[in-house]
Amino acid sequence: MGSNGNQKDHAAELSALASLKRIADAIFDYEDAKYVIFGVPFDYTSSFRRGSSRGPAEVRRAYDNLESFDVNYEVDFSELPICDIGDIQVNEDASETVDLVEEVTSIITRDGKIPVMIGGEHSITGGSIRNFRDASMVIIDAHSDFRDSYMGNKHNHACVTHRALDVLGESRIFSFGTRSTSREEFEDPDYHKVRFVSADEIRKKGIDGCLSEIEGRLRDKIYFSIDMDGIDPSFAPGVGTPEPFGLNDVDVRYLIRKLARKIHGFDVLEFTPDFDNGNTSMLAAKLIQDFIGSRETKKELF
Ligand code: MN
Ligand code: MN
Repeated sequence: MGSNGNQKDHAAELSALASLKRIADAIFDYEDAKYVIFGVPFDYTSSFRRGSSRGPAEVRRAYDNLESFDVNYEVDFSELPICDIGDIQVNEDASETVDLVEEVTSIITRDGKIPVMIGGEHSITGGSIRNFRDASMVIIDAHSDFRDSYMGNKHNHACVTHRALDVLGESRIFSFGTRSTSREEFEDPDYHKVRFVSADEIRKKGIDGCLSEIEGRLRDKIYFSIDMDGIDPSFAPGVGTPEPFGLNDVDVRYLIRKLARKIHGFDVLEFTPDFDNGNTSMLAAKLIQDFIGSRETKKELF
């Protein structure tokens, strides 16, 4: 930096350059896009392993290795109306970050577009769901995330299903893969206002059996939220709070494919690069492709 260098200007320049990293196939402008990808590098309430703030960058890096053409859906993602607006600027305050996510998601949904959010930790879904008051919500998660408050914070990631219940109300939330709940959550009188489909139940009845049981209760508009720890650690080791005996990757993809055309908001969260072997980032990137591909395909998938 020479003597004429205004470092403030350079910092702005550098941060603009840094945020230029986009999902490889997201080449449309916002105005022409139908799918709007954005990252939320926020992990300040994570209790066990931090680092999901680096999730968005690592998912984008993994995505670089995927083919643009997808033979399962016979679509070319680079031809689909996808844009990536980069990462939103967050601070350490969970409540402010959740409000910011609400604002960003509100702009996108009011423009008739579909938000695709990459986390970051699960608390941020509490913001996007506020723009889906008329929707059903489907969650993939090992944890019930049903504490009313945790470590003095209602926007802790361990509370997000409770926050969603505040917005959507009874019988509107379906969480798949549950295998970890505290006694306090389990005994909460509101616990049964959410349908927690446990990982054991899915193993017993099959994913299709579980889905057909609830399908009639799902609205035509769905918000779909993936906490990567819902998937078994053997497929997705890079998460903040791993929990054994989880869902398999194919079952999660099946749910996405089955529901895709009703999904109007989508997120992939809690991916924590420090603990990954490369599989979790790839799976997260692939699930984004699977969502958009199965929503846009002209092929009969079932
Ligand atoms: Mn969660
Ligand atoms: Mn979880």
